[in-house]
Amino acid sequence: MNAKELRNKFLEFFEERGHRAVPSSSLIPGDPSVLFTSAGMQQFIPYLSGQKDVLKDFNNRHLCSVQKCFRAKDIEEVGDDTHHTFFEMLGNWSIGQDSEDGYFKEGAIEYALEFFTKVVGLNKDKFWVTVFSGDKDIPQDKESIRIWGEKGIPAERVVKFGIADNFWGPVSNTGPCGPCSEIHYDRGKKYGCGEKDCGPNCKKCKRFVELWNLVFMEYNKNEDGSYAKLPQKNVDTGIGFERLISILQGKDSAYETDLFLPIIQTAEEISGKSYGDNKNYFRIIADHVRGAVFLISEGIIPSNVERGYILRRILRRAMRYGRLLNLPENFFIPLAQKTIEIYGNIYPEVKPQEANILTMIRQEGEKFEKTLEAGLKELERFNEVDAEKAFYLYQTFGFPLEMIQEELAKRALFVDGEEFDKELKKHQEISRAGAEKKFGGGGEFSPELHTATHLLHAALRKVLGEHVRQMGSDITAERLRFDFSHPQKMTAEEIEQVEDLVNQKIKDDLEISKREMSHEEALKSGALAFFKEKYPEKVTVYEVPGFSKEICAGPHAERTSQLGLFKIIKEESSSAGVRRIKAVLQ
Ligand code: ATP
Ligand code: MG
Repeated sequence: MNAKELRNKFLEFFEERGHRAVPSSSLIPGDPSVLFTSAGMQQFIPYLSGQKDVLKDFNNRHLCSVQKCFRAKDIEEVGDDTHHTFFEMLGNWSIGQDSEDGYFKEGAIEYALEFFTKVVGLNKDKFWVTVFSGDKDIPQDKESIRIWGEKGIPAERVVKFGIADNFWGPVSNTGPCGPCSEIHYDRGKKYGCGEKDCGPNCKKCKRFVELWNLVFMEYNKNEDGSYAKLPQKNVDTGIGFERLISILQGKDSAYETDLFLPIIQTAEEISGKSYGDNKNYFRIIADHVRGAVFLISEGIIPSNVERGYILRRILRRAMRYGRLLNLPENFFIPLAQKTIEIYGNIYPEVKPQEANILTMIRQEGEKFEKTLEAGLKELERFNEVDAEKAFYLYQTFGFPLEMIQEELAKRALFVDGEEFDKELKKHQEISRAGAEKKFGGGGEFSPELHTATHLLHAALRKVLGEHVRQMGSDITAERLRFDFSHPQKMTAEEIEQVEDLVNQKIKDDLEISKREMSHEEALKSGALAFFKEKYPEKVTVYEVPGFSKEICAGPHAERTSQLGLFKIIKEESSSAGVRRIKAVLQ
C-alpha cells in the first residue's frame, strides 16, 4: 500500500463508520502560545474541553483527519527509524461521549484493531499494548485491560505504565485529561536488545514501535490538584503515519518508502555517495528538507526567533550535513523540488509556493555560507588548533566537529587530522574526568554550579532587563535550577545570548572575590540580594569582577574557568510571571 492509498483508506474507514473527515489545519496553531501544531487533536481543543459545541460547528461528534504536525523537540531524534520533525498524524475522535451515539474505550479499541488487522492487514500477534497502571490519585485503567483481553490480546502483551508514559494532559495545570493506551508493533528480534525485560518503551532498543495512541479523556484536573470524572468524555487518537507506512512496506523507516525515497535517491545522485553507507546524514538531510518545505509553505521565514529560528536551525543543520557528504552549495534546491513533487497532490498549499520556497532556501544557503566563512576566517587566525579552540568554533558558529576536522584538513593547518583527534580525545577525557570528580560520590554540592547561578542571574539581567529578579534556586550535583521574574517565554535567541554571555565570562577566567560587610553596605555597593530571605547584620558578598555581585553564603569556585561549558537545558514556566531555567556544566 502506498502513502496516498493509506491516507484515503484511513479516512474512508472512519467515514464509513459515521465520522466526518476534517482537513488538516495549519502547522501554525491558533493558540499563539504554541509554536507548532504537534498533534491531530490541536485544532479540536476547544471542542474537547467543551468550550465550543462540536455539533454546531461540524454537525457530528465523530471526526477524523490526516494532520500535518511539526515537533521541534524531536530534532535530535531525527535520523532514527521513527522520529521526524515534520510528520503526518492520522486520528479519530469521539467528542462528548455522554450522549447515546458516542463511543469510548470499547469502541475506540475495536476500531483500532479492525483498521489495523482488516484494512491494512497487520498481524495482530505482533501487537503489544500499553495501559495506565494507576497512581495515588487515579485508579488503574482496568477497563482497557479487560477490553484488550476480550479482543484477543493476551495478558502478557498488555503492559502497564505510569503517569509519564500512559496518562495524557491536562494541557495546562487544569482541564481534561485521562489515561491512554497504545498499540506498539513488534518489529522482531533483529531490532532488539535481547534483554529479558525488553518490551514496549524499551530504553535499550527500538524493537517495539509505538504506532497508535488512544487517549481516553475521562477526568478533569481541578485547581486543587484533585481529579473529577468528566461528564462529557472524549476519545482522541493518533497514528504516526510515517511509522505505519514503513511497517506496511516492510522497511526499517519511512526513508525507504515512497514518502522519502525520491528525495534520498536525488541526494545519492548528486553526492555520488550511497544512502546505505551514510544513513544518518541522508536521513537528517531528507527530513529537514521536507520540514523546511512545509514550514516555508505556511509563510514562515528564517529568522533568529521562534518559528523562524526553528526553520533556520533545520535548514542550517541539513546544510552542514550536506557539506559532510560533499553535496554542492545549492543541493537543497533539487531536494526541495522533489519534496514538492511528492506532496504537491496531497497538500495543495505547497505547490503554488514553489518559487517562494526555492528562493528562500537559496537565500538562507547564502547566509549560511557567509557565517561559515566568518567561522573559517576565525579558524585561520589560529596558529595552532587545540580542542579548546575547536570547541569555541563549535559553539560560536555551530560547526560540527566533523566539519572542523574537514576544514582543518583542507587547509593543511598545523595539525593533521590524527593529531586533532588526539587533542579532541584528550580534551574529552579531561572534561569527563573533571565531571566525574565534580559529581563523584553523588549528592555533594557543586560550588561551580553555584557560581554559574550567579553568572546566569547577571546574564539574564543584561539580556532580558533589570526586572529580572531571583525568585528561587536549587542546586544539585548535576544541575542548577533558577527561577526568576520575567513575563514571557524566552526566545531561542535570548537563551543563546545568555549562554554565550555566561560562557564568555567563563572563558575570561575571572577570579571570584569574597568580602564581608554590613547588609546595608552590601546593598549600597549594588550587590543583589534574594529578596525573600532575611539577612544577618554581616553578610558575605561574592563578586565576579565587572559582571556579578551578590549577597550569598557560598561556597563558590575560585575562578570562572573552573566551570567548563555552561548549557541551558530547559526554559519553562514556573508560575505566573516566573520562568524557570535548568542548566548544566559540561
Ligand atoms: P514517542 O514516544 O515514540 O516519541 P510520542 O509518545 O511522543 O511517541 P504521541 O504524542 O502519542 O507520541 O503521538 C501520537 C503518535 O504520533 C505516536 O504514537 C507516533 O506513532 C507518532 N509520532 C510521535 N512523534 C513522532 C515523530 N517525531 N515523528 C513521527 N511520528 C511521531
Ligand atoms: Mg515523542
